[in-house]
Amino acid sequence: MTRIAIFQLMQEISSFNPSNSTIADFTINRGAAWIEQDRKAKHEIGGALAQFGEHDDVIVVPTISARSNSSGAILAASSWDELSTQLTSSIDDLATQHGGSIAAVYFCMHGAMAAENEMDPEGFILEYARSKLGSEIPFVTSMDLHGILTERMFEHSDVIVPYHTYPHVDQYETGNRSAKVVMRLLREDSTPVSVRVQVPALVRGDELVTETGLFGECLLLAKQIEDSEIGLAAGMLIGNPFTDVPELRTNVVVTFLAESATEAETEGEAIQYATEMAELFWVHRERMRVKLTSIDDAVIATIDHHADPETDGTVVLVDAADATSSGASGDSNAIFSAILASDFQGRLLAPLVDAPAVQAAIEAGVGNSVTVRLGGTVDPARFNPLECQAKVRLIADGDFLSESFKLLWRGGPTVVLDVKNHTVVVSTCPVNLFDRSFFLSHGCDPFSYDAVVVKSPHCEPHMYQERAALYIDVDAPGSTSANLKSLGHTQCPRPIFPLDEDVAFCPNK
Ligand SMILES: [Zn+2]
Repeated sequence: MTRIAIFQLMQEISSFNPSNSTIADFTINRGAAWIEQDRKAKHEIGGALAQFGEHDDVIVVPTISARSNSSGAILAASSWDELSTQLTSSIDDLATQHGGSIAAVYFCMHGAMAAENEMDPEGFILEYARSKLGSEIPFVTSMDLHGILTERMFEHSDVIVPYHTYPHVDQYETGNRSAKVVMRLLREDSTPVSVRVQVPALVRGDELVTETGLFGECLLLAKQIEDSEIGLAAGMLIGNPFTDVPELRTNVVVTFLAESATEAETEGEAIQYATEMAELFWVHRERMRVKLTSIDDAVIATIDHHADPETDGTVVLVDAADATSSGASGDSNAIFSAILASDFQGRLLAPLVDAPAVQAAIEAGVGNSVTVRLGGTVDPARFNPLECQAKVRLIADGDFLSESFKLLWRGGPTVVLDVKNHTVVVSTCPVNLFDRSFFLSHGCDPFSYDAVVVKSPHCEPHMYQERAALYIDVDAPGSTSANLKSLGHTQCPRPIFPLDEDVAFCPNK
């Protein structure tokens, strides 16, 4: 029998979110219970299990899965100490119980994590696993394309398998591809040759949408490489621009399978392809920036749209600066406050993280009015709490199944508040807002409103964009603002586009 271990560590943080995330933000699963829960999930582990399941002689050995419910701020030092102890003990257990009988390990990682006392948690884990399990067995690591590929991660992974889509819809396929890579490494008598090319660029914007944008051209090349006979994996890791760590940048990775006699030649070929992808990306970098509309102009456009008898439909106000799935705090009231202060006569729907407001609403009870201070509870330097009178429409436990993956997402106690014409869905903790499930599961259909605040840079088009009467990328303040220069990076390597002028890209260095 072939024993293949699996391990999962997923979190994406924003260093510019002033709070800390803690171990309590993670859902931790182990062993058979983990496998049972994730077998049907439409993400990497589901995809990998399905692939391994096709081989009668494969036994999957689950170690530990630590997944941040939403993303968050940098992990507190004490939490990393606690989490890393759990992660390393699971690797120790694997080494003790199965030792030499493990044939390979699949590491499912996001790649954009950081802790106060460890800037490269994923690299730390891979290095640790290598020290315990030896250099003979293959390590295959899948990554979100916003992951930051560090030297340690690259050194201790035989193959890196990145997502190929943005917005991300290929998590399941990525797990599936990773498991296929594991199987090929075990079954074929050849060696993986992995190369990477580092690109000094951080990008955001519509051109990254792989279906329609210029970035799609780079990914097309990656898929062609994977489809070739010796292509094992290829892709780009553009890095989460808000994870301000010393190795933040864009990376291209290519892995070919080589006969031992032709390794050097294969490496040359892989570098050529990786360079081609990197150069294509570099050429397009200027266009991979978001065009943003000021809050004032966005409010005026919303008012005009609503006042015009010739137009109807919902205005989508994209507040990517407070994207919880990129690590933002979720407590921005910037657009809501501006709408409330304007003479907009329509109805706005907005999400908000605000634990004290939730408590006050629960104490008041459904159907009653309460005075609350909405917003600015986590990031008061950016957002001023807004005192308002609200009517409590609904109180819920905040547990819901995600529209995207059918996973349980947990917002903690959650309330729906009506403020004047408008509705705010307020959770205790940040949840992912890259689909509609937070609204829908709390009884709010975004398209029954005149305007909706969407705190995610991109959702799948059918969720908002295709149905939006107007779709506006708003330049609001926030710890995940696409206005990257506004954030104040201190750790990432410089010079880097677009933080610095006249950045040069020398692919062969
Ligand atoms: Zn991502």
